[in-house]
Amino acid sequence: MRAKFRPPALMFQPEECFSLLRRYHDASGNYAKFETDVLGVVGFQGMKCPLVAIRIGSGPKKVLITAGIHGDERAATEALARFIESTQTPKFLEEFSVTLLPLLNPAGFSRNIRKNGSVDLNRHFGCDCSAKENQFVEKYLNGKSFDLMISLHEDVDMDSFYMYETGSFDARRLKHIIDDDVSFLKNVEDAGVPLNMERKIYGVLNRGGIKIVSQLDGKNLEKYLWARDIVKRVVTTETPGKIDFEKRVDIHVLAIRHFLKSFLV
Ligand SMILES: [Zn+2]
Repeated sequence: MRAKFRPPALMFQPEECFSLLRRYHDASGNYAKFETDVLGVVGFQGMKCPLVAIRIGSGPKKVLITAGIHGDERAATEALARFIESTQTPKFLEEFSVTLLPLLNPAGFSRNIRKNGSVDLNRHFGCDCSAKENQFVEKYLNGKSFDLMISLHEDVDMDSFYMYETGSFDARRLKHIIDDDVSFLKNVEDAGVPLNMERKIYGVLNRGGIKIVSQLDGKNLEKYLWARDIVKRVVTTETPGKIDFEKRVDIHVLAIRHFLKSFLV
């Protein structure tokens, strides 16, 4: 069934925001179920752009994939669009119900900046200071539940890859997720991207490219959702902004495919 995707006229500005969303629209016919929700409209500098969620498939495994909360992390937004555009993806997603938030910060994306103008959105979830974008997202996701969240980010200051797991785990579960992460990290290295081996990254212990964070009081989306039991497992990728763009896109696509596939096992 073709999606009912009728962008209001205001979606045509700013062009960059719209052209990214348009690619999802164009790919929608490849999917048996492809539905779009407009969470709200973000205005900036006299222009307006929608904040959109896309729901694909009706399988038993419920997954949330997010990108673009930092508007300058463009390999993440690009990778998610390419993954959905791939003709292999409809079959790959048969077991899943996937919710995509493909562009969480349209204003930042359109200007290629991290913030939405004044606010780092991923430091302001669950507080009164919430930006409009965050209010839309919180309202949309509260009451929902996902088995897995894949959050695509980039670290513009890095030349090596690392990732986060957000949560607290018993020993058996921890072994399972570390094994899963290690097998993914091997693929990253095989693709020619070095892993970050610093002892700590931003004050958090780094275990050969894997950081585990479990404080409940964080103001980023990943912690916000985990603390409220909206997501059971959260994987965050941080591709290094200092390496080739296409390579970063490849790593994000690799991550999406890996963590969806390993989730089926
Ligand atoms: Zn980021």
